Amino acid sequence: MNFDFDRSTPPLDPLPRGAGEKERQVLIRNAVILSMDEETGNFVSGSILIEGSKIIAVDNEIDAPDAEVIDASGKIVMPGFVDTHHHQFETALRGQLAHAVLMNDGRPVNKSNYYETILQNFSMHYQPEDVFINELFGGLAQLDAGVTTVMDVSQIHHSPEHSDAAIEGLQAAGRRGVFGYFEGWGDRAQYPRDAKRIRDQYFNSDDQLTTMVMGGEIYLPGYEEAWKIGRDLGLPIALHVVGTFGMQETFDTLAKDGWFGPDNIFIHMTGMSDYAWKVAADAGSHVSLSVPIEMHMRHGTPPIQQALDLGMDISLSTDVECTMTADFFTQMRSMITLQRMFANDMALSGKEYPDLLQCMDTLYHATMGGAKGLKLDHRIGSLKPGKEADIIMLDANALNVAPLNNAAGAVVTLMERSNVDTVMVAGKIRKWQGKLVGADLASLRKNLEASRDRLFSAAGIEKNILAIQDHVQ
Ligand SMILES: [Zn+2]
Repeated sequence: MNFDFDRSTPPLDPLPRGAGEKERQVLIRNAVILSMDEETGNFVSGSILIEGSKIIAVDNEIDAPDAEVIDASGKIVMPGFVDTHHHQFETALRGQLAHAVLMNDGRPVNKSNYYETILQNFSMHYQPEDVFINELFGGLAQLDAGVTTVMDVSQIHHSPEHSDAAIEGLQAAGRRGVFGYFEGWGDRAQYPRDAKRIRDQYFNSDDQLTTMVMGGEIYLPGYEEAWKIGRDLGLPIALHVVGTFGMQETFDTLAKDGWFGPDNIFIHMTGMSDYAWKVAADAGSHVSLSVPIEMHMRHGTPPIQQALDLGMDISLSTDVECTMTADFFTQMRSMITLQRMFANDMALSGKEYPDLLQCMDTLYHATMGGAKGLKLDHRIGSLKPGKEADIIMLDANALNVAPLNNAAGAVVTLMERSNVDTVMVAGKIRKWQGKLVGADLASLRKNLEASRDRLFSAAGIEKNILAIQDHVQ
């Protein structure tokens, strides 16, 4: 057999003019649409009309003579992914703790562990300029991968200038971000009392891309004050809930004393009692699961089934790139395969087993689940008229995906970040036909490398690219 084929690379189409600007319309046509909204439904070949920052119609065909047209033939179009917990300040430390467990268990191989190496060493040495470039680079990297919203958990609020740099780095990436205001250390740390200044200065209106969440870690002294300040300001309260950190007793007490509410975002929820789970579910609290990290770093078994059985809102979150990728395809595949592994094991043992997670459910947790957790579901998470146009276009004609036979299945079981073709945030095009728009990545990378060098030197840790275990001094 001998096929003749064209080996030239076609040039990119010009960027649609005026996308995201007030009153300007963009029409996406011929798309396979996964709306994540029951009322809107899904389409084999559908259209989405966007005006300014918002979706105004989703249908088979839409007549919009003034709109700029994007032909989405061969593309799956869906809402952008929502990551409900990521520590972007660690971007310069990517891969450095590839083998890390959370805590030092006394084995020499675990001498370099997350708690001691990152939280008690590296993070203490951040200057505001490190915070800014780490936040910005990490944000752009996820935007490139189709994650249009993040809650960034920044634990480096060593001064008000550090907090300002974290917010400015988050905003500079041009995507939707929730600023998670967590702890800092040293004489100039103002957490949690600086929350009001930060809220008034940066988050004083509801119509911007960034919002704020209050961190309230129950393993740190003074969390009661942080929860109170957060609730007085009307901010959701987020916290890590991890059995490995010995939190079960405190968490049970808080459950018993009526502290939980629909404003709580509980991250991980590993190793907690059935009692506390029930109270959290009854209170309408949210669960953010970082499945690959929980398995890799000894947080405990990811409690996917508990959360599903209790009917709780679940989202996915990437956590730390010093140990695992912040890519959402990895998140979705980890969730679906682990849930099915446990259920399949029960089936093989002849037991009654829970429903096997389906790809469409997994996509829902990766989009609407996150939007609900961050209290943004009235604005994002699905493709519905009236919502903001946070939209991704995924290439279903790519070598690793074609031919397309099942859309949700293709996204969850076949795709990876190279299939993210185009990304929109509030109608503005941030990635177009495979390339980020308006980011000088070479110069940003140089800045990030300089930050990495400063941090390693201040932490007294030598770079060792060929280390076969996490480098221990
Ligand atoms: Zn975390």
